[in-house]
Amino acid sequence: MTERMMFFRVSEVGKCLRYLYFLHVLGRLENVSKKPEVIEGKTIHQNFQNEWIATIDEEAKPEEEAMFLHENFAVLGKADLVSGERIIEIKTTTRIPNRPYLTHVRQLNFYLGLFGKKEGTLIYIERNGNGRKEFSIEFDADMFLVDLARFEKLYRALTELRVPEKEPTPLCDFCEYSFLCEKIENRNSC
Ligand code: SF4
Repeated sequence: MTERMMFFRVSEVGKCLRYLYFLHVLGRLENVSKKPEVIEGKTIHQNFQNEWIATIDEEAKPEEEAMFLHENFAVLGKADLVSGERIIEIKTTTRIPNRPYLTHVRQLNFYLGLFGKKEGTLIYIERNGNGRKEFSIEFDADMFLVDLARFEKLYRALTELRVPEKEPTPLCDFCEYSFLCEKIENRNSC
């Protein structure tokens, strides 16, 4: 049997596999692209990219695309900025964290693997104000392989139509599939 090619995104790195399963099977249940914070976030991204190119590196490439091709799936990514040997990821936030979020570190690490770069910078920019903080990371090959293995697991789950185990975090409160997730848990416990 020929197996179907699937496409994943770097922005899916670090997210709950059950959430990603629902996302690929059902699509989005809400139109996030029209949310004010998403539109505002895009503007902040563009302003930062323009500022970087105008003042730091005129050769830097914004929204640079790359693809990691695996046997049965591909992972597509669009880096916010590729500046020399560095990949820069911009995150807009209501409050600057003291440490970078692990999900963001893993996504940036995956970009580094995708582009074959060693250094990454995560830049948090506050939505309401001028707060800005940056964190540097170096490519971690083990972390990249762990996240690649998670895409393999997701691929198998989608191919076999088998809902993955839940991976609860505080973000479950905002998950658009939480009602489905709960129904499946209730059914499994019967
Ligand atoms: S509610 Fe939590 S565990 Fe369930 S699918 Fe959503 S993120 Fe995953």
